[in-house]
Amino acid sequence: MKRLVLLGGGHAHVEVLRSLAIDPGARPEVTVVTPFPRLIYTGMVPGVIAGHYRLDECAIGIEALAQRAGATFVQSRGSLVNPGARDVMCADGGVIPYDVLSIDVGSQPVIGAARGVAQHAVAIRPLENLMKGWGSVLARTRAGGVSSISIVGGGAAGVELALAMDHRLRGERGDAAPHVRVITDTPVPVAEFSEGARRRLRRHLAKRNIGMHVSSTVVEVGHDHVRLDTGLEFASDATFWAAGAGAQPWIRESGFATDPRGFLLTNDRLQSVTYREVFGAGDCASLEGMPLAKAGVFAVRAAPLLATNLRAALGGGELAPLRTDPRYLALIATGPRHAVGTWGGFAWEGDWAWYWKDRIDRKFVERYAR
Ligand SMILES: Cc1cc2nc3c(=O)[nH]c(=O)nc-3n(C[C@H](O)[C@H](O)[C@H](O)COP(=O)(O)OP(=O)(O)OC[C@H]3O[C@@H](n4cnc5c(N)ncnc54)[C@H](O)[C@@H]3O)c2cc1C
Repeated sequence: MKRLVLLGGGHAHVEVLRSLAIDPGARPEVTVVTPFPRLIYTGMVPGVIAGHYRLDECAIGIEALAQRAGATFVQSRGSLVNPGARDVMCADGGVIPYDVLSIDVGSQPVIGAARGVAQHAVAIRPLENLMKGWGSVLARTRAGGVSSISIVGGGAAGVELALAMDHRLRGERGDAAPHVRVITDTPVPVAEFSEGARRRLRRHLAKRNIGMHVSSTVVEVGHDHVRLDTGLEFASDATFWAAGAGAQPWIRESGFATDPRGFLLTNDRLQSVTYREVFGAGDCASLEGMPLAKAGVFAVRAAPLLATNLRAALGGGELAPLRTDPRYLALIATGPRHAVGTWGGFAWEGDWAWYWKDRIDRKFVERYAR
């Protein structure tokens, strides 16, 4: 029996598991290795922080899904792959052999040379860490111990989290709510979006009096401050680190070809360009010649093809190429039940856009609950 190892319980792998649960086919021996028994769906995380959802409404049970797919669930993280011997080394010391390996482990925050991040900041990945960190900041705020919050990173995630936190804290604390600020080293916030979307989001940040500090590089985080490379210091009782999506270093250390940032380089069949029995999808992988944004939507779009190609690789069949549009729909919640949307160069907003997002997100999570 062929052995398939799914490393990471990300957005593409939950679909692979669902597909195996529906149609096991030649029933390979499947093992899923992932550090948490659930996948928190990022699209709904700002809604949890804003107070619109309970966390359990936004989580997909990977362990339960693995059980339905007849797969073995291993709660650990991959720390190295030995592609010559075809095995995965896990952080708990386990070694898992494979015939076909698929990697969907997402990304990790880029910390660079900044000091004190691990000790004093809440990294937004893994999301379990973000939710735990937010819970403790919320409790400290309720006890009156937080008067300023900094979010380092001005991409869509940082801005959406800032808006959600401000909404929640103002709702609970009124004028006593902490001041929220976003600090980013880019010259504009949400540099990945069109000018129209940026303008709308800036307006929401300004309306809430959320500080937006652009072209500002944080070099140190302390328990009560953040310091910029210019020497300027901000009081910060709670700091969230949302600075970019970086690659997990073991991908390169395992000997796989990577892009310059260390993400697994794949061909359009989602195979590693160096080891064809290794596949990759989502944030941890980069398609050769077709750079895509690190957005969950691409993991979701690649998922059905990944499921098909993994079956083909196990059974010796033909692999199909991925065809995808680099443009994608982004809906960014602005705190209350209101969202800014953007697609290509277009931007719009409204309460209806939030309900649209809500419908898409709930449908996604429900798909894996059945
Ligand atoms: C607050 C926030 C909001 C966002 N909103 C959106 C949005 O609305 N739309 C959108 O398209 N994108 C959004 N994104 C980006 C989106 O979250 C990512 O692009 C998406 O999660 C990528 O999916 P993935 O499957 O590649 O990785 P992930 O969803 O990160 O899944 C990776 C999985 O692998 C596991 N894992 C990690 N390391 C290891 C390891 N070493 N070994 C084994 N398992 C491991 C993790 O626990 C996790 O289960 C948002 C991001 C954030 C932070």
